[in-house]
Amino acid sequence: MNMDYGVYGIMGASEQEVMCLSAKERMRAAAGPLLSWYRENARSLPWREEPTPYHVWISEIMLQQTRVEAVKEYYRRFLEALPDIYALARVPEERLLKLWEGLGYYNRARNLKKAAGETVNRYGGNLPASYTELLSLPGIGSYTAGAIVSIAYGIPEPAVDGNVLRVVSRLLADMEDVLKQSVKKRTEDLIRSVMPQDAAGDYNQALMEIGALVCVPNGPPHCDECPLERLCLAKEEGKTGLIPVKAPKKARVIEERTIFAVERGNQVLLGKRPGKGLLAGLYELPGTEGYLNEEEILDWLGVKGEDVELLEGLPEAKHIFSHVEWRMKGYYILLREGAGTTVGFFADKEKAQEAYALPGAFQAYAKYLFGEETGKLHR
Ligand code: SF4
Repeated sequence: MNMDYGVYGIMGASEQEVMCLSAKERMRAAAGPLLSWYRENARSLPWREEPTPYHVWISEIMLQQTRVEAVKEYYRRFLEALPDIYALARVPEERLLKLWEGLGYYNRARNLKKAAGETVNRYGGNLPASYTELLSLPGIGSYTAGAIVSIAYGIPEPAVDGNVLRVVSRLLADMEDVLKQSVKKRTEDLIRSVMPQDAAGDYNQALMEIGALVCVPNGPPHCDECPLERLCLAKEEGKTGLIPVKAPKKARVIEERTIFAVERGNQVLLGKRPGKGLLAGLYELPGTEGYLNEEEILDWLGVKGEDVELLEGLPEAKHIFSHVEWRMKGYYILLREGAGTTVGFFADKEKAQEAYALPGAFQAYAKYLFGEETGKLHR
């Protein structure tokens, strides 16, 4: 492997000398090989083609908790619909949530719109070229602020996400819990003190990219392909399987729920979730806690028995949120024309599909109304 340490000056250092470097010296020595590696191996991604502040912002928010491959198509559609910050600031919330449908964590989308509005009002439509001012906008934390200023404006500020924490903690054989805020803060300070002033965007992206492609999160890291192998203490000490250290998370709360896919002619029954809590303010297929029997189902929906043309159990499904897991039983219910319910509201199917975003949690049953299973039950 070509170990080009360039200006950082450890080319020719003995193994012993390399192992004795301080954290700062080690990080500084890593910068050269990281940048060379990134410039040769960076993936070509849509948001890297024209890294304007708006493009970097949208892509970084979408990429939180979501795979790169899944984000590509969302990113393309989003920019086609909302090409600039003014379009985002004035988009109706329902249209925005529809564009976000399936990406999850819908508050990310709502915060984008809020921050766009503030950017138009306070900064004349330009995202500020200032780390601290970006931090004052809704939904922008230290990672996103660092990514925007470094990639779009070339300002040397760190952008520390899970990938970066993994790479740095392995490089330094740091056995502290990477989920602690203090460890993140310490890593940001360390990176800020060593990052190349003239290549901040590439440096941050190189750390993220090596974490995504080489020093990977699942399974063993590909140390033999890593430009940092010679510098890496976790590799040297045989601790790559132990680092990053993460304190065990609390077990998820299991919730049993019954979900209803209700049709009446060309209409479907939808509900709107409360303004606070899980999936706040989003549309839903009506449902309730616990498992209900047929009598309880009709009671809960406020439907008379003679109005039901078909009531059929659907396969069980589950959906995992960060702290809660829904274990769902679903029912398909076909109501006769003119029948009413005491929950939710009826919407024309076409309008429901075009205008109302249904979170992924309901997709296992929504497909009986809109997807590949539509109409199969009552043909
Ligand atoms: S040598 Fe291995 S453990 Fe160390 S940074 Fe590279 S891939 Fe990660």
